[in-house]
Amino acid sequence: MPYQTDARRKLTAFLQSHRGEALTAEEVAQGLADISPSTVYRNLNLLAESGDVIKSVRTDGRTVLWQWHERQACQGHLHLRCESCGRVIHLDGAVSEALKSEISSSSRFEVDMGSTEITGRCAKCRR
Ligand SMILES: [Zn+2]
Ligand SMILES: [Zn+2]
Repeated sequence: MPYQTDARRKLTAFLQSHRGEALTAEEVAQGLADISPSTVYRNLNLLAESGDVIKSVRTDGRTVLWQWHERQACQGHLHLRCESCGRVIHLDGAVSEALKSEISSSSRFEVDMGSTEITGRCAKCRR
């Protein structure tokens, strides 16, 4: 277990309370008023490096989004990533398994569920 600073712990707690949401660094910093934006940004990058946070870029190519990565829970399903808003959706486990076995039988390819993302557009962005 690496040494956790107070800022990192608060940041982790904040991201976990917003699980399922992809946030900009500004939104995260606003939610953590007692931590400087530069500390928030540095720690977001550290968490992304260790795989605790998923870092993605919105289709505008500029906005970077951060989302808590549920590693343990995410081994059993695939992820859908919206290319418009950057949101990562956790696909239902049964649907994931069905896709995995379809791919396995058609291509003899074993999908690594925890690290696989299917990109496209979410329901909200299709409206
Ligand atoms: Zn997941
Ligand atoms: Zn979207």
